[in-house]
Amino acid sequence: MVYIALGSNLGDREENLKNAYDHIIGSEKIQPGKFSRFYETVPVGGPPQPMFLNAVLEMQTSMEPHQLLEELQRIELLMGRIRGEKWGPRIIDLDILLFGDRIVEDDTLKIPHPFMHERMFVLEPLVEIAPHMVHPVLKKKILQMYQELKNLNQQGLQK
Ligand code: ATP
Ligand code: CA
Ligand code: CA
Repeated sequence: MVYIALGSNLGDREENLKNAYDHIIGSEKIQPGKFSRFYETVPVGGPPQPMFLNAVLEMQTSMEPHQLLEELQRIELLMGRIRGEKWGPRIIDLDILLFGDRIVEDDTLKIPHPFMHERMFVLEPLVEIAPHMVHPVLKKKILQMYQELKNLNQQGLQK
């Protein structure tokens, strides 16, 4: 199974996530699986900016990882994403989180997504639809990663 993270914090965020979903599943090379509910999250990193709406989509695809990245970037552009400041506000952000057990690490593509285990806005929707999926590098289930990050955040709050 392949997992994609969707995020939006500009315009009609819910509409943007739904439109991105429609564009993604419009590809004949993609068979959609579960789609998480939408989570409102506080922006992490970057300039002060509006709250995000985040979700995760499960799919199967006959595309190779780089082809899938190109397809997702095509959809981001089509939806009007403008590349501004790093981690700045955006209409739509589509990231590949996991591609089965595949590990990819080059200049344009890193899978698993290098920050996924540190991001609650990724792990929360992901644990909803794929708690038993195993991270091929960390060799941990999503559920365990989620619980560990939650504990870490709670310890941080107690200090
Ligand atoms: P982050 O990667 O920290 O979530 P971002 O999503 O804001 O940051 P972008 O500006 O959307 O970053 O993308 C920058 C580049 O990241 C893309 O052009 C793409 O080549 C690269 N990239 C590397 N790994 C991935 C991945 N797993 N999914 C999507 N893009 C990736
Ligand atoms: Ca991202
Ligand atoms: Ca991105």
